[in-house]
Amino acid sequence: MSKVWILGHGQLGNMLKHAAMPLSVEAIPVDIDAKDIPDLQPQDVVTAERELWPDTPVTEKLAQHPNFINLHVFSRLADRYTQKQLLDDLGLATSPWKLVDDSLTATQVYAELGERALMKRRTGGYDGRGQFWLKQYEGTEIPDDWRNEAIVEQGINFDEEMAIVGVRDRQGNKFFYPLTLTLQVDGVLTASVAPLPRLTMLQPKAEAMLGKLLDGLDYVGVMAMECFRVDDELIVNELAPRVHNTAHWTQAGASVSQFESHMRAVAGVPLAQPQVKGLNVMINLLGTPRDERWWAISGAEPYWYGKEVREGRKVGHITFTHSGDKSLIQGLDELKEQLPERYYQVIDWVEAAVEGGSDA
Ligand code: ATP
Ligand code: MG
Repeated sequence: MSKVWILGHGQLGNMLKHAAMPLSVEAIPVDIDAKDIPDLQPQDVVTAERELWPDTPVTEKLAQHPNFINLHVFSRLADRYTQKQLLDDLGLATSPWKLVDDSLTATQVYAELGERALMKRRTGGYDGRGQFWLKQYEGTEIPDDWRNEAIVEQGINFDEEMAIVGVRDRQGNKFFYPLTLTLQVDGVLTASVAPLPRLTMLQPKAEAMLGKLLDGLDYVGVMAMECFRVDDELIVNELAPRVHNTAHWTQAGASVSQFESHMRAVAGVPLAQPQVKGLNVMINLLGTPRDERWWAISGAEPYWYGKEVREGRKVGHITFTHSGDKSLIQGLDELKEQLPERYYQVIDWVEAAVEGGSDA
């Protein structure tokens, strides 16, 4: 049985482990702060559920293994500066940007990027953390503690946000999941819907863009590309060299989930084009206490991460797959009654997207 060590032991690592079981691949999420050093064998494989990690005895041991797949891609994509350089080098559209160094002034930013620009920490930002808006009409200046550790990019007035996830094997075969419409609230992914017929015309473009990245990096496994849609154009927002929250719906709604695709690719099990089973919806559970009633909703597939509930923390998700009748909306309505009020607009957004191709 082949063994795949996963750097990190959060929910992504656990979902990878879950997906590897039917492949007869032993996946072992690893606590990077553990005292016990994993007993790696030469034929084992190493992957990661996160793109950035501190040096610890465990991560150092894992990073020394010759079969750490995509090892050098992680740091390159974890730093927004080198990620942006990669996008530019490959000629992929991304919001125009600059490095925030000692000499950059807010006046220069407004002149070159426009009246709204977003500073993002080069590393460590997630779920909207590590961001700072510069607004000319408010006279915002660049705070000193943002210098030499951030980029700044043009604020994009996008129509909507979406993401695509793809997978590539060692031979260079590539497969893609359909574009997923996403709802971010305060910078945090809250819900997603896929596939939407009205986005089909953008699919070839999205696949070509992500395909170029996968091939350009000689990448093996699953990668996610978050995009802004502006009219008929896709602008890359950011990349993640790992399985991604925007494709959690594939657990319920695709013949091969993103987690299984990743494990197949890194373990050398053949890939296949995932077949999508209807229309899928995912709602993230953010800081919401577990409610046993979710499991009683017909069509709902709750996935609870088993973490301590803290405000805003991702503690689970619920997926629905549309079976072609009214059950999806019924299920969502039922869920709405069980969730706190702040989810109402989220469920409304999802229902609008499902029912009539909402574009907001
Ligand atoms: P993640 O948790 O997905 O890694 P993040 O916090 O690292 O997120 P981004 O995805 O870059 O950061 O930004 C979070 C959200 O902020 C985006 O989904 C989008 O809604 C908004 N945003 C980011 N960049 C821009 C931009 N250039 N113009 C307008 N809005 C933006
Ligand atoms: Mg993002």
